[in-house]
Amino acid sequence: MAKQKIVCVLYDDPVGGYPPQYARQGIPVLAAYPGGQTMPSPAAIDFVPGELLGSVSGGLGLRNFVESRGHSLVITADKDGPDSVLEKELVDADVVISQPFWPAYITADRIAKAPNLRLAITAGIGSDHVDLQAAIDRNITVCEVTYCNSISVAEHAVMQILALVRDYIPQYHLVVNGGWNIADAISRSYDIEGMSVGVVGSGRIGLAVLKRMKPFDVALHYTDRHRLPTQVEEELGLTFHSDVESLVKVCDVVSIHCPLHPETEHLFNDELIGKMKRGSYIVNTARGKICERNAIVKALETGQLAGYAGDVWFPQPPPKDHPWRTMPNHAMTPHTSGTSLSAQARYAAGVREILECWFDGRPIRDEYLIVQGGHLAGAGAHSYSEGDTTGGSDEATRFKT
Ligand code: NAD
Repeated sequence: MAKQKIVCVLYDDPVGGYPPQYARQGIPVLAAYPGGQTMPSPAAIDFVPGELLGSVSGGLGLRNFVESRGHSLVITADKDGPDSVLEKELVDADVVISQPFWPAYITADRIAKAPNLRLAITAGIGSDHVDLQAAIDRNITVCEVTYCNSISVAEHAVMQILALVRDYIPQYHLVVNGGWNIADAISRSYDIEGMSVGVVGSGRIGLAVLKRMKPFDVALHYTDRHRLPTQVEEELGLTFHSDVESLVKVCDVVSIHCPLHPETEHLFNDELIGKMKRGSYIVNTARGKICERNAIVKALETGQLAGYAGDVWFPQPPPKDHPWRTMPNHAMTPHTSGTSLSAQARYAAGVREILECWFDGRPIRDEYLIVQGGHLAGAGAHSYSEGDTTGGSDEATRFKT
């Protein structure tokens, strides 16, 4: 294959310098994903699983491999605005790699300025930061490392469901601040036992959340455009809803796990949130833009929502004055759930596997594909609809100022 130029956008190194000190030695070795999908299988890796790979100096452990094959690799965190390194380097790039946590927004405008671009790899899951319609129209392959961090996200979602319902974050702050007023501490604290918990999207993450919530003795609900097998519904005692309105009306907690695509953009707006039970909770670890920004703020302020948590924002990074940073009764994290040190080892290996296939002219696994050959393909055909959801992403430049 002719020499390829690869541009890789990763988040900044730790403020205290790279490498960080690690809390644990190594990570467990997993044999396969739930359901049997095989783990990423590159011919080799040049990194230590469990070390920080997702920041610029970690470089997904790719540099030696890419350069030894005669290709070039540019790694940068500078991704937003016309003067960014990404914007300048993309013009003659063949491949772009980006992580959803620090997304390189590959808009139609940027695609138009990058005539050589043939492959966009998501080091993670969720390729909505690429204008998928423009990728379809330009015959650019878009792929991601399906399953690499699905369980990581499911764990985070369960943590945040419990944090909201039991009202953990204010209680923690009370302790740190030297207080002990129990009446204040429990004024918004409930048991989840007996509540109704629903997921929107019962794919890899949504199903893992349902399985993890089952032992809490809650009533479980789900909606998806693909119904789960009857045996799974029976084992978990699931109630299926053919539409999201029906689900939100009966649930106390709604956890969102569908991708962002034109069908789901701003799905949780004033109207849908207005149909929820007063005092419901939303956890959104899917994509920030599935929820309408001001509708969430308003619902928390009026008490229609008792709490909101998640780790996804729009755009990313969110401007310093993004209202979700300061709205009441939230338990947000930055976009971290899918980039634990454990997850990084899987998606770094998956990116290496994809690049090995690309350089050798071998097909990329079908389950990794989102767009190929001018169509949604593989996981993309199952879970997305055509179109673009990157509109407004240029607001990320406001984080810099
Ligand atoms: P998946 O493809 O296995 O599951 C997605 C499910 O959503 C599918 O079953 C699909 O049919 C369903 N769906 C699509 N459109 C829908 C709609 N309109 N209504 C209801 N259901 C719909 O993917 P996954 O691994 O479970 O990941 C889901 C999403 O989670 C990703 O696309 C990504 O946006 C997000 N994610 C976030 C992080 C993070 O770090 N926060 C990490 C990984 C994935």
